[in-house]
Amino acid sequence: MKKIHVFNAGPCLLPQVAIDNAIEALKDFKGTGISLISISHRTPQWDEVMNECRALWKELLHIPEDYEVVFLGGGASMGFLYVAMNFLEKKAAYLDTGVWAHKALKEAQGLGEAYAVACSKDKNYTYIPKDYEIPTDVDYFHITTNNTIYGTEIKEDIDCPVPLIADMSSDILSRPVDVSKYAMIYGGAQKNAGPAGVTFFIIKKDLLGKVTRYIPTMLDLRTHIDKDSMFNTPPVFSIFVMNETLKWVKSIGGVEAIHAINEKKAKTLYDEIDRNSMFIGTAEKDSRSIMNVCFVMAPGKEDLQDEFMAFAKSKGMVGIKGHRSVGGFRASIYNACSQEDVEALVACMQEFEQLKK
Ligand SMILES: *Cc1c(COP(=O)(O)O)cnc(C)c1O
Repeated sequence: MKKIHVFNAGPCLLPQVAIDNAIEALKDFKGTGISLISISHRTPQWDEVMNECRALWKELLHIPEDYEVVFLGGGASMGFLYVAMNFLEKKAAYLDTGVWAHKALKEAQGLGEAYAVACSKDKNYTYIPKDYEIPTDVDYFHITTNNTIYGTEIKEDIDCPVPLIADMSSDILSRPVDVSKYAMIYGGAQKNAGPAGVTFFIIKKDLLGKVTRYIPTMLDLRTHIDKDSMFNTPPVFSIFVMNETLKWVKSIGGVEAIHAINEKKAKTLYDEIDRNSMFIGTAEKDSRSIMNVCFVMAPGKEDLQDEFMAFAKSKGMVGIKGHRSVGGFRASIYNACSQEDVEALVACMQEFEQLKK
């Protein structure tokens, strides 16, 4: 069988050991003789998974004591609404760095005054704005740390005079984060943390309960903190695989170790893009993401795009088509993607250059 290299943007590659253990649990969950998806979520064996998963999140990201980790359905897109419902009293500020960031902003505008303090749409979201001031008269400031579609990333934990809320769907667990700088971090699991179907929330507990609106039970984050994410039936399969994924992260040395691996992968690929006469990167260099690497054919080579796509496919590259709003190519090199996968893509780019010279 030809080796394939998966660069899908999400859902995406997950560690093989997590997939293998999920297969096993689907057949027989923890020696119960019952499938993972048939057990009651009120059994002690399931409690073990929930507890282990929560504990791993706290350990891997060094989450302070006054935070809680919650697992819900709905995806990051539902997270946009959770943010506004639970934190927006009068006014909120957003950094508009892409389609997801913009959608988060739009969701809040339905519940109060929400606006973008800066926006990089003028250059098709190819950079992270720098010259902006965070207002002090807002309930929170919302950022999207990694802009999956455009390959830009806010790599540092910014100092923020108001509660800072971050959608980290596509760079969570890829690098160390100082959780204490955030009021809440949330995201869909399906890019680095597990399969689709579960959304994680890391919440500073004492910042909840400050809004006066009525919050429907299911949309109130306090409901889920109080019930340990089991107010209603949790997405057991997704949480199980997420737990296995976190175990894998821990086994290779935690987030700090994986960060070094990710930096190396990203450097390998960006170096090739910068060297190779066939391609150019789309994101500004100081905004480049280490998770999603976007590039297009170099000026004058545009008509070779389909040919490179076919060539890459023949070499086993999967999922490198860029998002329709950017075009070209995007290689998503999340945690489970290996240096070897990246090197295979680089070799493919080099071979293509030789072929076309
Ligand atoms: C994928 C993605 C989303 C949307 O996630 P869903 O779970 O599909 O709602 C939101 N924000 C970012 C940064 C993403 O990458």
